[in-house]
Amino acid sequence: MVNQPCGLCAGHKNGLCRCAKEGTTRRFNCVSKRGNTRLIRKNIAMKTNRRKFIQGLAGASAGLIIPASCTPKAESKTANVEAPAIHSKNKPVKASHDIVVVGAGLSGLHAAMLLEEQGFDVQVIEGRNRLGGRVYTLNDVPGKPEAAGEFIGANYARMRNTVEKLGLEMYTPDAGGGANRPWLYNIKGEYITAKNWESHKFNPLEGDDRTLLPHRYLSTISHRDNPLQGKPLNAWLEPEYHQYDIPHDQYLRSKGVNEETIKLMNVIIHAGGMHNTSAMNELRRYHVMHFSDGKTTFPDGTGWKMIKGGNSLLPQAMAESMKNEVHLGKTVIGFKEEDGVVQVSCADGSEYTAKQVVCSIPITVLKNVTFEPVVQGVTKDAINEMDYGLSVQAHFLITEPFWEQDGMDANMWTDGPLERFAVRTKKDPSDPDAGLAFINGPESLKFRLMNDDQVFTYVENKLAEIRPSTKGKLKRIMIQSCERDIHGAGDWVYWQPGQVKKYANHMRKNHGNIHFCGEHTAIMERGMEGAFESGERAALDIILNA
Ligand SMILES: Cc1cc2nc3c(=O)[nH]c(=O)nc-3n(C[C@H](O)[C@H](O)[C@H](O)COP(=O)(O)OP(=O)(O)OC[C@H]3O[C@@H](n4cnc5c(N)ncnc54)[C@H](O)[C@@H]3O)c2cc1C
Repeated sequence: MVNQPCGLCAGHKNGLCRCAKEGTTRRFNCVSKRGNTRLIRKNIAMKTNRRKFIQGLAGASAGLIIPASCTPKAESKTANVEAPAIHSKNKPVKASHDIVVVGAGLSGLHAAMLLEEQGFDVQVIEGRNRLGGRVYTLNDVPGKPEAAGEFIGANYARMRNTVEKLGLEMYTPDAGGGANRPWLYNIKGEYITAKNWESHKFNPLEGDDRTLLPHRYLSTISHRDNPLQGKPLNAWLEPEYHQYDIPHDQYLRSKGVNEETIKLMNVIIHAGGMHNTSAMNELRRYHVMHFSDGKTTFPDGTGWKMIKGGNSLLPQAMAESMKNEVHLGKTVIGFKEEDGVVQVSCADGSEYTAKQVVCSIPITVLKNVTFEPVVQGVTKDAINEMDYGLSVQAHFLITEPFWEQDGMDANMWTDGPLERFAVRTKKDPSDPDAGLAFINGPESLKFRLMNDDQVFTYVENKLAEIRPSTKGKLKRIMIQSCERDIHGAGDWVYWQPGQVKKYANHMRKNHGNIHFCGEHTAIMERGMEGAFESGERAALDIILNA
């Protein structure tokens, strides 16, 4: 009889029957791994409700193609890796919560809401003193721009569902956001208007491609002949595409793209450079972006929206919908699992205990978190080697319209160290003019070595060099970067050459009772919807095995 599960649950974990749940009504005999007969109770009604709930989730994703291999059941099997059993001489610690969710970004909050809906006692803890993670409306900057997660796609089924459920309103911003505003190009030190680009001597393309504007190079040329086109969203994980897990510049050269074009494509890459990002990273990115083209729109026919009042209202509403208040300022420094209970230690000395943990900490930040038992093998390598794209934003108030002085377009796209300076679209006509320098990828690395004042000084000086009319017309407001504090890793995970093959199928594996989520673990979607997808998957891992 030893090692035999009770017949209702998926198996045993660390000596405990996994279907054991407090506050239940029926009793079953269950034999644990250690050979002890335990009386466990199971609430059949809860199980039935969960089954309905899982069917409901599949419905919520309607419109997205979810292959059989990606259904929650199949996914949970691959993610279900047991940690080595721990034997303690001390009295076992009692879990104070069913579940602790670490991180109050979209992925953590979505997992928390789904788990609470299923009757679990859930406590969310967050390292920063604010909610939302990479959804962050800059309320102190004129026009309240979004620092990160900005555009909500029509195909964001889970996110749209949550926005609607929580009674928030969405609106369509200036068509396509910043991308459709006219840019003034500064290439090799020369100003070129969008109109003049086609015939300009610095235009490196031929034929009809000469009409393509430089800020469109990366997305258009990368997606051309994309081998993933017409394939399901998770096709990038299939071994047949490992041949594209090579440096993106190498892939582009093999397609006949010339060096000057590759250099211009490099300007807007967030990764460490074209040589440092896997072609599969870029092919997948544009595959996801274009997957719903012509198939899904909002009822008003638009493709993108934002939340009225700022996207930060969503994580706020999600947190408010929870029974337990989210605990802010709780930077997790360690996890210890013993006898099926996870102890979560925070930098302020506080501790939480739970039967299961959902961890949405960005993967590179996990380098600074201790695990007992230690994380080993492929997951450990992924934590050590994965990286996030970088960017830094320097926000300014524009005290006088400098573009009226020199008569050129306001927005600049450059191949120099400043990369882009954009005058922000106003959300309200009464907003004062505000602008930001947005520098990403390798050019932003140097800012790691500067404090905020130094970043401002650097940006102002570079701007004055290439656009003298800006001198004295900018007032410093704020430096923002998703990696300038200990809780952020950068903008979003990117796969370096060879990493898709090595790690992409391991990111979702749990470490004992710790279940990882976050956009870096999503396999179908990216961005904010990727965060929702990953939170849903982590919640399902727990629900299906409860
Ligand atoms: C500049 C930029 C623009 C973007 N634009 C878009 C867009 O237009 N559309 C789109 O869909 N997506 C966009 N994204 C991506 C989107 O914002 C993210 O994919 C998504 O918000 C990630 O959510 P998450 O829950 O996975 O991670 P996060 O939001 O990073 O959540 C992780 C949470 O964990 C917390 N944390 C970290 N370490 C600890 C610790 N040790 N202890 C406790 N808590 C900790 C963090 O503070 C954070 O709150 C953009 C991102 C950036 C940077």
